[in-house]
Amino acid sequence: MQALKGFKDILPDEARLWQRVEGTARDIFRRFGFEEIKVPILEKTGLFARSIGEATDIVEKEMYTFSDRNGESITMRPEGTAPVLRAFIEHALHLRRPINRLFTVGPMFRHERPQKGRLRQFHQLSVEALGADHPRLDAEVIAMARQLLVELGLKAELQLNSLGCPDCRPAYRAKLVEFLSGHREQLCEDCRRRVESNPLRVLDCKSANCRRLNAEAPAILGSLCAPCDQHLARVRQDLDALQIPYTMNPFMVRGLDYYTRTTFELLTDALGAQSAVGAGGRYDGLVKQLGGPDLPGIGFAMGLERLVLLLQEQEQAAAAGPDLFLACLGEPAAAYGFTLLQKCRLAGLSALMDIQGRGLKSQMKQADRLHARHVLIIGEDELNAGQAVLRNLDSKEERQVALDDELTALLPLLQS
Ligand code: ATP
Ligand code: MG
Repeated sequence: MQALKGFKDILPDEARLWQRVEGTARDIFRRFGFEEIKVPILEKTGLFARSIGEATDIVEKEMYTFSDRNGESITMRPEGTAPVLRAFIEHALHLRRPINRLFTVGPMFRHERPQKGRLRQFHQLSVEALGADHPRLDAEVIAMARQLLVELGLKAELQLNSLGCPDCRPAYRAKLVEFLSGHREQLCEDCRRRVESNPLRVLDCKSANCRRLNAEAPAILGSLCAPCDQHLARVRQDLDALQIPYTMNPFMVRGLDYYTRTTFELLTDALGAQSAVGAGGRYDGLVKQLGGPDLPGIGFAMGLERLVLLLQEQEQAAAAGPDLFLACLGEPAAAYGFTLLQKCRLAGLSALMDIQGRGLKSQMKQADRLHARHVLIIGEDELNAGQAVLRNLDSKEERQVALDDELTALLPLLQS
């Protein structure tokens, strides 16, 4: 018997990293005043269709939807915002606090093509701040998302955009549809359909042709109404005040229809195509749309699998061996090598050599076992010529390097 495709067991070695991610998140969320809420995995299908949007990938083709034994259509949640908002409305939590800061952790389900960092059951930390449309709340929520990466020691780029509001987005949408209609033949099949059903999603298409075209498409930032423009300017001002670096990406659209104004993503270049570790944005009309009071909100979700993958890569890098293993043949070479070793160490590099005068083969084995990044082989010939071969054990690349007193050629190669 085997697990379902796209469904993964998390074994104890990995569970240790999951605990670290969750523990760090819980601590940071507490410092920012967020409280945990636990919501069910199953909801009525209509909840997701109404919030995420009918013409989105998630609702069109990714949901685990089925009829239960009473014939009611139910769905395994593909994301956390809709269930949390449903609970918020059902229990009138807005009466409890003027601003509710909530988070939930748990599995989500999407029927996608499984790959590294992309599963059918995956886990999210899902965060919602409900009750205020002040731009400072946006900056606060973004700061909290970023802080999790900072405290896990992970690098990610923060990208920011605004998707406007129901006042200004229709005009932009029309502009975009006009542009896309004029270049219909350059779009992929899916995007030709999206021009009518969900034109903003075209901007998010990964196909090469669509991407080329998108670079010339009108950007939404030029079409924002004055209040949206001002909102964005204030968010940027507050991010600057917190010294949080970001880049503007006017073509970032999100896969869910409910976003308004601020949207953001945290991106890494370490996970191949699965570059987003977290993403979110403002959704001012959503609570009302789901039958609740007219309250604004902003939130984000982080993928736990992707955070854990990044931590695993970080651990592997930290477990790497010395920058240099020196293989010396014969006493004159060993004597020279001994001084070279010292120079490397004083230059801040980690370097080791065999001091027992073993043969080349066993020295090479030792370098391998230590996971050395480079090996430099010095024998009598190399000593006389004043140059030797440096081999990079990761890339297998070899280079001749001159051995002058300052090691001017060698040190930069070892540092890179
Ligand atoms: P992607 O562009 O990678 O499909 P998305 O826009 O669908 O991401 P969101 O719905 O915004 O993602 O979810 C937020 C986060 O949840 C993502 O940034 C990612 O870390 C994680 N995530 C989303 N889908 C999956 C999945 N199928 N497997 C693992 N993690 C996922
Ligand atoms: Mg997706």
